[in-house]
Amino acid sequence: MVQRIVLATGNKGKAREFEKMLTNTGIEIVLQSEFNVKPPVEDGTTFVENAIIKARHASFISGLPAIADDSGIEVDCLKGEPGVYSARYSGENATDEANLDLLLSNVAKFPASERSARYWCVLVLMRHYKDPTPIIFQRSWNGEIILDKRGQNGFGYDPSFYVPLLGMTAAEMEPELKNRISHRGQAMADMLPEIIKLYGNK
Ligand code: IMP
Repeated sequence: MVQRIVLATGNKGKAREFEKMLTNTGIEIVLQSEFNVKPPVEDGTTFVENAIIKARHASFISGLPAIADDSGIEVDCLKGEPGVYSARYSGENATDEANLDLLLSNVAKFPASERSARYWCVLVLMRHYKDPTPIIFQRSWNGEIILDKRGQNGFGYDPSFYVPLLGMTAAEMEPELKNRISHRGQAMADMLPEIIKLYGNK
């Protein structure tokens, strides 16, 4: 029997990553748009709260187990901003470009040594919408903010998220490399065995 799990995102890229990881496991990923799930209000002050809000909502509407992720970037000289507001840093319905431009203007007055930053990703699995013990993975990816933009890949803050160990920004990385080492890739790799244990081919 195929077990269906709803993914609480409208982002097809995230869905493809999950599908790839779950090939031949007897688990099928369904996008929440199939159930006409409208995104809930993300009014948590932590990534984990927002991820739970999204997973609970998708599970309630679909009647299926649900996975949600919430992510963002934390910059040290900005005391952790933009954090949970990463997607709407420069306002509701902000574009990635406007958010990044605002971030660059805010960090510009700080020396490079204080522009350390990290992406965070929290992944939550709720077995049903009243699940009292959601399964949670929280992983980060360290880098620093540079004042110019480099590279064409990725999205969001990637053109200015520089990873010193690799000598390039996240937007200069091949998608396979970024998906393997990023906050989201690490959290997904952590969650995979748990999903398979619960729902995979026995
Ligand atoms: P979410 O879809 O609510 O999790 O919002 C995540 C926001 O954080 C995105 O809109 C981006 O601004 C930022 N973000 C999270 N992960 C990444 C990444 O891998 N690259 C670039 N920006 C990211």
